[in-house]
Parts: sequence; C-alpha cells; structure tokens
Amino acid sequence: MIETVDDLDLQVSTRPDLAAATRAARDFLAALGVSCDNPGMRKSPQRMAEAYAAMITARPFEMTTFPNDERYDELVVVKSIPVQSVCEHHLLPFVGLAHVGYLPADRILGLSKFARVVEMFAHRPQVQERLTQQIARWLDDQLAPKGVGVVIEAEHMCMTLRGVRAPGTVTRTSAVFGVIRDIPESRAEFFSAVAK
Ligand SMILES: [Zn+2]
Repeated sequence: MIETVDDLDLQVSTRPDLAAATRAARDFLAALGVSCDNPGMRKSPQRMAEAYAAMITARPFEMTTFPNDERYDELVVVKSIPVQSVCEHHLLPFVGLAHVGYLPADRILGLSKFARVVEMFAHRPQVQERLTQQIARWLDDQLAPKGVGVVIEAEHMCMTLRGVRAPGTVTRTSAVFGVIRDIPESRAEFFSAVAK
C-alpha cells in the first residue's frame, strides 16, 4: 500500500505564490503602521511570506506500510514527536509534542513515518483538537490497527502573546480508537505509556 500526500484532501493544496504573498505582507505591515523602508526590514515582507509558506506547507513524502510478518502484538509508542502548526483563528504558531501509540494488526508503519504524518496534518491552519483526531483517524484508516491513540501537548502563541497572555499554558488533547478507546486496560496502558 503506497500513499502520497498528493492523494490526500489537503486544505493547503496549491503552491504558495510567494511574490503575491510578499506584496501582501508589505501592505499588511504598512496598514499596521510598520514601514519596511529601512535596510534591516527591506526584505522582511519576503521573509514573512516565506516563513508562513513554510509553516503551512508539509514536505511531500511516500507513506509505505509493511506487513506485520513478526505478528508483533504489543503496544508501539512513538513519543515526543515535534508539533509545529499555526492556529486557524489567529495564524499564530502553536508548538509542542505529539505522542502516538498503536496496537498493530496486519500492517505496521516505519517508525520515522510517524513524524511525517504529524507534520502532514500540522503544517496547515489548524485547531489542536482537529489535528489530534486527523492523525489518529488517518493511522486508523491506513493501518487498520487493533487500536490507535494520539496525545498532543502544545503551547499556543495566541494565548502566550495576546488575549489572556498566559505563557507556559499547555493544552493537552487526545484521540483514541479501537481497543485503546474501548478496553479499559489498553486505554490505561496507552495513557500511562505516554505520560512517562
Ligand atoms: Zn489562536
């Protein structure tokens, strides 16, 4: 089974138009009273456009799953995967860690691919709750495991820098499917594994 990100229903599907984004960034900053005429800021609109393009564009990758030839049947947990996203309400970054676990059935996924799956869904305007569910649902669809769980802990710059201005606040979300949702022992094993 081979899937690429091109097959997926991505919110950000077109290539960014960096020239148009640079012009818009210059206008946006001017409207806020920020001039880009001084030497230090002359290229800032372009850098701003490139920075946002990088934050909302996931690198393409080939998603390959493998048959579970060893019949591995214990919980696999991949912890502390970096999460870098932007909230869709303020277009400000939120950053943190994702912990992913699954109980394999017939298919397994290369361990390095979990970080790519997280990136694929994180690099677009997001809300943390939906991001958590999309990662879990996608793994559930691709691997048809006995169970899958995703926990994300992240700090949102829109809470740190504006509004309530509460730096250090961590938002924790989780999504669980299959036996990790339904069987109390599996659920407890998953949540204690990601808490350590
Ligand atoms: Zn926000």
